[in-house]
Amino acid sequence: MVDPPTKACIGCGWCCRKARCIFGISAAEKKGENGKGPCTLLRWNGERWICGFYEDAPESMKAQIATELSFGAGCCASLNDYARTGHVPTPDEIDDEPKKSG
Ligand code: SF4
Ligand code: SF4
Repeated sequence: MVDPPTKACIGCGWCCRKARCIFGISAAEKKGENGKGPCTLLRWNGERWICGFYEDAPESMKAQIATELSFGAGCCASLNDYARTGHVPTPDEIDDEPKKSG
C-alpha cells in the first residue's frame, strides 16, 4: 500500500477544526465538553493557526508533544482546499466554513 502524498503544512488549521487530537479531546473533556467540533485550543497568530496546547506547554514537554502530533510531517488531508491552494484562512473567513456535524 502506498502512503498518500503529503504537502508542507501551511497552518490553515483545517485539520484541528475538523477533528481534535487526543490533547484537544482531553482538554474539552476537562471542561465538561464532548470533544466534538473545532478544537478550542486552536489559535490564530496573525499569520497562521497554531496549537495552543503546544504553545502553552512547558518547554520540557514540547519536543514530546511535537512528536506525538507529528509536527513537521506535512499535510496529507487530500480534501483540504487550503493546503491545495496555499491559502490560510483568517478567523473571519472560517466563520463561513462548513461545520462538521455530529
Ligand atoms: S496544512 Fe494540513 S496539517 Fe497543516 S494545519 Fe492545514 S490541514 Fe492541518
Ligand atoms: S489545536 Fe492542538 S490540541 Fe487542538 S486538535 Fe490541533 S493539535 Fe490537537
